[in-house]
Amino acid sequence: MTNYVITPPPVASVPVAGGGEFPVRRVYCVGRNYAAHAREMGHDPDREAPFFFCKPADALLTGDADMPYPPGTSDLHHEMELVVALKSGGANIAVEDAMSHVWGYACGLDMTRRDVQGEAKKLGRPWDMGKGFDHSGPIGMMVPASALPDPTKGKIELKVNGQVRQSSDLSMLIWSIAETISYLSGLVTLEAGDVIFTGTPEGVAACVKGDVLEGFVEGVGTVKTKIV
Ligand code: MN
Repeated sequence: MTNYVITPPPVASVPVAGGGEFPVRRVYCVGRNYAAHAREMGHDPDREAPFFFCKPADALLTGDADMPYPPGTSDLHHEMELVVALKSGGANIAVEDAMSHVWGYACGLDMTRRDVQGEAKKLGRPWDMGKGFDHSGPIGMMVPASALPDPTKGKIELKVNGQVRQSSDLSMLIWSIAETISYLSGLVTLEAGDVIFTGTPEGVAACVKGDVLEGFVEGVGTVKTKIV
C-alpha cells in the first residue's frame, strides 16, 4: 500500500442509470462545435480544427444537486452539451475506431463565467478560471453507449425555468463524436475514465440565482440543477 502523507482525495464519479458509478479521470471540453453557437460568439464556424480545454474531474456536479452561484462573476452562462464517456483510450485513434472506445453518454452543462472567459480571451490568458471552477460541470446520469446507437443525430435541448433556451440536434455538430475523439487522441493519450463535453448549440445566456436548468438529449436522458 502506498504511504500517502495525507488522505488521498476521492475519485470523482458519475452515477450510472440502473446502478453503479462511472469513475472519471479527466474532463475534456470542445470549444465551438456547433456553427450557430460559434457565430453567436463572434466567430466564423468554417471547419477550423477543433480546440479543447479541461475542467477538473471534481468540478462535475452529480445527482441533480443545486449549483452554488460561483464567486468572481456576474455573467454565469449555461452551455448544454452531450457528454461522451470512454471505457478505453489510446493515442492517434482512427476515426473508424473511435466509437469502440465509448462506454456511454450523459447530459452535461458546461457552466461558464462568461465575463472571466471574455477577459482571458482579450488578454490572451488561460480559460481555466472561466471554465474550470468548482461545480462548473453539472452532469446527469450516465447511460451505456447502446442507449444512443447513432450519436450523429438526436434532439438536444435546455429549458430554463420551463422555457426553451437552447434547442438543436446532434446532427449540427461540426466535428462528430468520432472525429472529436480521434482528433483529441492526436494531442493527448486518452484513457478509460476520460469524459468529453462535446460543445454547445446556440442560445447560451446568463443565469441568475433561483433559475432551474433542465437539459435533455434524446436517448440519453436529462441533467437538472438549480442555481442557488
Ligand atoms: Mn462548452
